[in-house]
Amino acid sequence: MDVFSHREFDGHEQIVFCHDAASGLRAIIAIHNTALGPALGGVRMWPYASEGEALADVLRLSRGMTYKSALAGLDLGGGKSVIIGDPARHKTRELMVAMGVAVNRLGGRYIAAEDSGTTVEDLKAMHGVTPHVVGIADKPTAQGGIRTGDPSPATAYGVYVGIVAAVAHRLGRSDLKGVRVAVQGVGSVGFKLAKRLAAQGAKLWVTDLDEDRARLVCDEVNAERVTLDEVFALDVDVFAPCAMGAVINDTTVGQLGASVVAGAANNQLAEARHADALAQRGILYAPDYVINAGGVIDVALERESFDVDAVNQRVERIGATLTEIFERAERDGRNTSEVADQLARERFQCAPHLRKSA
Ligand code: NAD
Repeated sequence: MDVFSHREFDGHEQIVFCHDAASGLRAIIAIHNTALGPALGGVRMWPYASEGEALADVLRLSRGMTYKSALAGLDLGGGKSVIIGDPARHKTRELMVAMGVAVNRLGGRYIAAEDSGTTVEDLKAMHGVTPHVVGIADKPTAQGGIRTGDPSPATAYGVYVGIVAAVAHRLGRSDLKGVRVAVQGVGSVGFKLAKRLAAQGAKLWVTDLDEDRARLVCDEVNAERVTLDEVFALDVDVFAPCAMGAVINDTTVGQLGASVVAGAANNQLAEARHADALAQRGILYAPDYVINAGGVIDVALERESFDVDAVNQRVERIGATLTEIFERAERDGRNTSEVADQLARERFQCAPHLRKSA
C-alpha cells in the first residue's frame, strides 16, 4: 500500500497508524496541515473493506478539513481519524479509550470530534484520557435550553445564511419571501433549515427517504412533499441537498430545475468536473464545505468561552465568504469550487509561521 505516493496524499504532514491489542483498536490519524493551528477533525468508525480504503478515506477527509477550517476563518488546521470496524459490532468503551490514548500521544496536534459511527458518549470516553476532544460540552441554545454536542443547529444556520447570500447574488433578492426552495433530506440539519426558510416566507418542497419524517416536516413548515426523484427537476430557485454526497452527478446535473445549489450535504459533487457542468448551465453552486461549516465553527468555539451569539456571528461570515467566492468566480470566469479552493489555499499557505520561514 503506497502512502507518500498515494493519490490522496497531498503533502500530508503526518499520518499515524494506531494499534492497541487489548481493545482491538486499529485506527489511522491523518494530519493534513497545521499552518493555521492544530488539526481538528472527526473520528469516523466504519467497517472498511480494506486498510487501503480506510487510508484513502482518512486522507481525503483530512485534506477537506484544512480547506473547511481555513475558509471558516478558524485558526485551525485539518485532520481526521478513522477507526476500522463496525460501530454496531466492534465498538466498546475500551476501544474508544484506546483511541483517546492515541490522540493524546499527538500532544494536541490533532483535536478529535464526533463523526459517522461515533457519538458524544464515545468522545466523552476519549476525553477521560485526553483533553484534545471537542463537541462534548453542554451549550446554551438560542431558545434558552441546553444541548450537548450536536452541531446541527449551527450547520443549519450557516446553510440558511449561505442561501440568503446565493439568492441575493443570483436573483438580486434581499429577502426570501416567495423564493422557491427544494430541500432534499430533512434530518437534523434539513429540518432546522426548512423551519428557518419557512419563517422567512420561502415556499418549500421537501423529500426524504423516510416518508413519515417528510410528512411530519411538511405539516410543520407547510411544504409540499415530493418523491426522491422528482426533487431534482422541480421548477424552483434553490435546490438544497441535505442528505448524502454525490447528488450532483452525470444523471442529475442536466435535470436540475433550480438556478442555485446550496445545501448542507458533504461532497455534493460526484466529481470535480461537475462544478463546471453546473456553471455551464448557469447554476450557481455554493461550495459544500464553505456553506456547511457552521458545525465546525460550533465545535471549534467550544475551546474558547462558548457563547451562542459568538458562534452565530462567526457563522454569519459564511455569507460574506460565499459572496466573495461568487464574485471572484464571475470575474475570473472560473467555477465556484475552484475559487473556494484557491481562497482556502491563500489562507493556509500564507499562515504567519510559513511567512516567517519563507
Ligand atoms: P441526518 O442523518 O440527520 O439526516 C439526513 C436525512 O436525509 C435523513 O432524514 C435521511 O432519511 C435522508 N435521506 C437519506 N438519503 C436520502 C435520499 N436519497 N433522498 C432524500 N433523503 C435522504 O444527517 P444531518 O446531520 O442532517 O446531515 C445531513 C448532511 O449534511 C450529511 O451529508 C452530513 O454529512 C452533512 N453535514 C452535517 C453537519 C451537521 O452538523 N450535522 C455538518 C456538516 C455537514
